[in-house]
Amino acid sequence: MNKRAPFFAVFLISYLLFSCQNLPKEKHHITIVTTTGHIADMVRNIVGNKAKVYALMGPGVDPHLYKASLSDLKLMSDADIIFYNGLHLEGKMSEIFQKLKRTKKVVAVSEGIPKHLLLMADSSHGIPDPHIWFDVSMWRYCLKESEKTLVKEYPEHAFFFKSNAAAYDKELRLLDEQAMRDIESIPAKQRVLVTAHDAFGYFGKRYHMEVIGLQGISTLSEYGLSEITSLTKTLVVRNIQAIFVETSISEKAINSVIEGCKRKGHKIHIGGSLYSDALGAPNMNEGTYIGMFKANVKLIKQGLNK
Ligand SMILES: [Zn+2]
Repeated sequence: MNKRAPFFAVFLISYLLFSCQNLPKEKHHITIVTTTGHIADMVRNIVGNKAKVYALMGPGVDPHLYKASLSDLKLMSDADIIFYNGLHLEGKMSEIFQKLKRTKKVVAVSEGIPKHLLLMADSSHGIPDPHIWFDVSMWRYCLKESEKTLVKEYPEHAFFFKSNAAAYDKELRLLDEQAMRDIESIPAKQRVLVTAHDAFGYFGKRYHMEVIGLQGISTLSEYGLSEITSLTKTLVVRNIQAIFVETSISEKAINSVIEGCKRKGHKIHIGGSLYSDALGAPNMNEGTYIGMFKANVKLIKQGLNK
């Protein structure tokens, strides 16, 4: 018999024992489901190749109105962890989350944000503004919350998750600082974001921009003459060069604003569409949170810094 045979036998047995012990874990890949693409991107940056992450809401999807489909329910019931935004962003899904919480880990990433930092969307009803991802410093709290959950659930990956989260947090800090510098390069008087979305409250507060919303203006009749006059006046007086509108806003209403400015000798242009409640397509830069944020800041800077 070969002199080395006993060593091989010991090695083989321990190898098999070791493999058998690990078999169930290897077989079970961690599955995480998130609601928005912003959260999916953040979680992917923490877990790397240790988990599969699925976002329910793709590009162009409105989370406020989103209803879970049957396949979403299946995905969520099979998931190990579910991350959602909270603060009533996913207004049509809160009941589902309450039910799922009985049997699995369901976490609102906004839980990580100190309450006093939240803005109110409707102060009379105490309803907070859910668009927290537009203040990068607040999104970093959400990263911390996700990291905390993942480390607690999977302590065997703690080191990996923590170092990934730290690296991503650094990227977010740089993004925050760059956005601050970019917006500050716009003359203070012109730092006004006229947009069709109601999503930019946190953005305005963090990066020192006044936000004028045009939401709710879907037809010309709703867009009263006095509103047009008052908006036109603001644009002219403050020398605002661009407004950021969507196709959902009545073209007639927008045209009358543009015409109104023109009559007063002020040229205004459409700055383009900003990303609001969803990321861009996965194959684009804007398919990531950082890419989306940079694209918005670039558009605002280009539009207003003329
Ligand atoms: Zn929204």
